[in-house]
Amino acid sequence: MNFDCVPKAWLRALLAAFLTCAMQTAARADTDTGMLEAAQQAQPEVIRSLQHMVSIESGSNDAAGLQSMADYVEIRLRALGAKVDRRKGTTGPAEIITGTFSGSGTRRVMLMGHMDTVYPAGTIKDQPYRIEGGRIYGPGIADDKGGIALVLHALQILKDAGWGDYAQLTVLFNGDEEIGSPGSGQLIAALAAQHDYVLSCEPTPTRPEALLLGASGTGTVWMDVWGRASHAGAAPQIGRNALVELAHQLLQTEDIASSVPGTQLNWTMAKAGLVRNQIPEHATAIGDLRLVDADDFERIEAALRERVRNKRVPGTETSIRVERGRPPFAAGAAARALAARAQAIYAEIDRPLALIEQTGAATDAGFAGSSGKAAVVESFGLAGSSYHARDEYIMIDSIVPRLYLMTRLLQDIGRSR
Ligand SMILES: [Zn+2]
Repeated sequence: MNFDCVPKAWLRALLAAFLTCAMQTAARADTDTGMLEAAQQAQPEVIRSLQHMVSIESGSNDAAGLQSMADYVEIRLRALGAKVDRRKGTTGPAEIITGTFSGSGTRRVMLMGHMDTVYPAGTIKDQPYRIEGGRIYGPGIADDKGGIALVLHALQILKDAGWGDYAQLTVLFNGDEEIGSPGSGQLIAALAAQHDYVLSCEPTPTRPEALLLGASGTGTVWMDVWGRASHAGAAPQIGRNALVELAHQLLQTEDIASSVPGTQLNWTMAKAGLVRNQIPEHATAIGDLRLVDADDFERIEAALRERVRNKRVPGTETSIRVERGRPPFAAGAAARALAARAQAIYAEIDRPLALIEQTGAATDAGFAGSSGKAAVVESFGLAGSSYHARDEYIMIDSIVPRLYLMTRLLQDIGRSR
């Protein structure tokens, strides 16, 4: 082809396509057969660990079950050579288990998962552990006992390989994730800030498997209206009806989230009045708040306070309070680079790895990333489905790829300078 007669834009596009293709070929490394074989050999042990953990029922309010899970992971982490610490959260019965390893490298990496499930004790009786058609079923098996198994067995493989290329490796398992991590969120945020990378091990969707780069933050909005009580039959005119004012305020704030893009507010609970024959002096409503930017907690609060100044019932007072739940999670540049590295590792074993930008469900990655110091990526757990539903399961054929990904990525992080 004579390049002189090709229009310049075409030529540039052609060259760019050629270069991209060449770079991809060059970047695509061979499979690390040693690691792949180690992952394949570990699969039966991973399944044994899953069976054991599913047999320990550990709903977020099941103090005895959570203690049994904590005992189990403590023994496993000690066997791996970790220095183990067990501490109570700032609220609730669940403990937080941390295992720390000191190595000879320069990077500080944290791996996290959670021990609690959404299932109350006894669920296992009608949803027993069972293997069927390439899947293993059991309450909490994907969310998040698969994540814990993955961490424990990836570290075993790396230990057997004599790997120590990290300054510090920290494993954190909490027991209140499913109720918003009220007792463990602060510790997760503080510990994560002392690390370069945080790999959070919630389950991944199936086909294609994925990593998660963003999740909503959550909040609770409280609206309180105070009026004046009076006899509803004899003197309603001297009362100030808090219930009527609350109704007015709910309607005029119904669309408030549209004034703060990226937020979502839905009023979900309300209460007013004590008895039928009294004009109610107090009424209250609660709303579910979702947001993608931590500054929006303040923006939505300010917007609500401004809007409720417009009253319908004179003499009433309306107050707004926004309680922060999980911070939003948004992967930064370093986390995105890590996710791209993970995709390259999956390519070594000819498996696609999708990147999911955003989910409405909140995760502890929000706490881990809240300081902005660590690069945080979510969903390194096993592939599965039906979480928080009936017949939760994991895909057996995700065990080896996920072990390969975790072990190879930790090695890559160790080598990066
Ligand atoms: Zn989970």
